[in-house]
Amino acid sequence: MKLILLSPPGGGKGTQAKRLKDHFDIPHISTGDILRNAIAEETPLGTKAKEYVESGGLVPDAVVVGLVEERLKEDDTANGYILDGFPRTVEQAKALDGFADIDVAVQLDVDDETVIERLTGRRSCRDCGEIYNLGFNPPEEHDVCDKCGGELYQRDDDKEATIRHRLETYKDQTEPLLEYYRDQSKLVTVDGKGDIDEIFDNLVTALDAL
Ligand code: AMP
Repeated sequence: MKLILLSPPGGGKGTQAKRLKDHFDIPHISTGDILRNAIAEETPLGTKAKEYVESGGLVPDAVVVGLVEERLKEDDTANGYILDGFPRTVEQAKALDGFADIDVAVQLDVDDETVIERLTGRRSCRDCGEIYNLGFNPPEEHDVCDKCGGELYQRDDDKEATIRHRLETYKDQTEPLLEYYRDQSKLVTVDGKGDIDEIFDNLVTALDAL
């Protein structure tokens, strides 16, 4: 299955993508993770992306499209994949249609209040990428990953001013994608509020029904 997860930042894409990856045994491709790694490793891609990611703006379409096109050529994508954070603009979606045949775009439907609560409390593991929330999904030990013992950190772009910018960017640039995929009869909407396991069950039920 070739699937796209669509939601505002903090909508639960990353959390659910990790579970879907295990369930369907297909790779989870997060452009945000790829860009953050590139920035940490100071690669040429990281240098290009740094200022956009840190300010909460979007990295230029050509850069992101190029990296996804390359990633989708790898062997592990043969049985499908989960795209998390891509596409984020109609231009990116059109480009994707040129080199991939997407089965479904799943919208995780959440309100602004939920998103802000999730983003301000979000902590990620530096080593394995597991995502926690201090409010409703805390680690057992402060700042330590339950899964691998790695250090938990708050993403720079999860600070309040940047969060506001990212939400505006989502509404202006990414929300039109809902219409784009609805017009192609590929949009499925799942309630993204509430318990992580319950959302996951609803997602799997919706995908199994396709
Ligand atoms: P995410 O982890 O998906 O929230 O992405 C973090 C940041 O990476 C975003 O705020 C953007 O700056 C950048 N980014 C990730 N995916 C894309 C994309 N498809 N297009 C442009 N910028 C992106």
